[in-house]
Amino acid sequence: MTMPPTSTSATTRAERDDEAPEEPTEPESALETARRQLQHAADHLDIDPNVVERLKHPKKVHEVTVPIERENGDVEVYTGYRAQHDSVRGPFKGGLRYHPDVTREECVGLSMWMTWKCAVMDIPFGGAKGGIAVNPKDLSTEETERLTRRFTDEIRSVIGPTTDIPAPDMGTDPQTMAWLMDAYSMQEGETVPGVVTGKPPVVGGSEGRDAAPGRSVAIIAREAIEYYDKEIRETSVAVQGFGSVGSNAAKLLDDWGANVVAVSDVNGGVYDPNGLDTHAIPSHHEEPEAVLTHEAPETVTNDELLELDVDVVIPAAIGNVLTAANADEVAADIVIEGANGPTTSAASAILAERDVPVIPDILANAGGVTVSYFEWLQDINRRAWSLERVNEELETEMLAAWRAVREEFEARDVTWRDAAYIVALSRIAEAHEARGLWP
Ligand code: NAD
Repeated sequence: MTMPPTSTSATTRAERDDEAPEEPTEPESALETARRQLQHAADHLDIDPNVVERLKHPKKVHEVTVPIERENGDVEVYTGYRAQHDSVRGPFKGGLRYHPDVTREECVGLSMWMTWKCAVMDIPFGGAKGGIAVNPKDLSTEETERLTRRFTDEIRSVIGPTTDIPAPDMGTDPQTMAWLMDAYSMQEGETVPGVVTGKPPVVGGSEGRDAAPGRSVAIIAREAIEYYDKEIRETSVAVQGFGSVGSNAAKLLDDWGANVVAVSDVNGGVYDPNGLDTHAIPSHHEEPEAVLTHEAPETVTNDELLELDVDVVIPAAIGNVLTAANADEVAADIVIEGANGPTTSAASAILAERDVPVIPDILANAGGVTVSYFEWLQDINRRAWSLERVNEELETEMLAAWRAVREEFEARDVTWRDAAYIVALSRIAEAHEARGLWP
């Protein structure tokens, strides 16, 4: 089991002084957003302020030096992090990111989001996030493998199938997770598939894991469409980003009868008011950044896509794309957050004022961590599930979370984001109160 929840929470004075400001400014960091959203939800709940204060800070942040030998024989030294936010409901869980902008603060903010995401899905995990400040495009495959193995060794004492379970994120993939699993297992003297999720199925990965975040976005979009009394067959949808999340969400909604009129990648998008054949458009993983090679009546920029007059818009590429600068121009009736953090706090306030529902990322794209949980269950039980079972159980979990959030939304007259945070925070606070303060 994890450490008692209220042992050494390393909250320093410097961290306290680093509180999020009252008024949102743009651009805002993941940590500022996470703290602001926490406080917003806490204001609606009667919970111990000490629990809220604790949740503004990570339990621990590990910073390690990762030296590797480059192809030319030089040694290069990188910095890696693992932020562990809260484990009151179970082991820490969260992605590992290889990106030049990875910082301690970003890992802390993203680890907080993972705590809320696991709690809103009622998954018995807490939140973590980590990564290495490196541009993976600068490394050969062999260098990336050496980096991953060394990083794994540096954080080996703080990860494990019952303590902290990493997963892929930006710049990492199933192969990275297979190396991590191998490096960890070699030192343990036994194969430990449950130390990491998002692995290739041949070494204990789950069927359906890759498509799961996009599938959950589609499921939540379908429920929201019905909630707002629309017919899916008469619903137009625009999706920004045609990678793992965006392409899977767009294709499923297309299969279920929605009219997907626009999709884009980093270079821009294609638009057909009569509906695109989403299966004919190359996704990022089939052919990177090739959306514009698909023939369509019109092309749109990524900014224009977000302002199209559609029923549903799904930002599923990167964070901070809906801001104070364009929130007034969003013409869609519903926003479903496919990416993590696509809407800034200022944009959220404007959209709320305009009565445009925004279904938050911690619910909509939580299919990824949910199937990661299924993968972990399969690993510790040494029994693989079929794709059908994975998708059925994902559907069940997504609908349960949707209902829990919808109840708060209706009962409290708050935004969908606040409703999701209220569900998450209530569960976390109750767990803290039940376990109590140690010693
Ligand atoms: P991906 O790399 O598979 O695809 C990203 C897509 O966005 C590509 O089509 C790319 O061309 C496009 N893109 C990149 N920069 C862009 C820009 N500036 N403007 C418009 N489009 C741009 O990534 P993904 O796994 O689909 O992740 C997308 C988002 O969803 C991220 O915010 C990620 O954190 C989040 N997310 C991913 C998962 C997952 O497991 N894959 C789970 C939950 C959330």
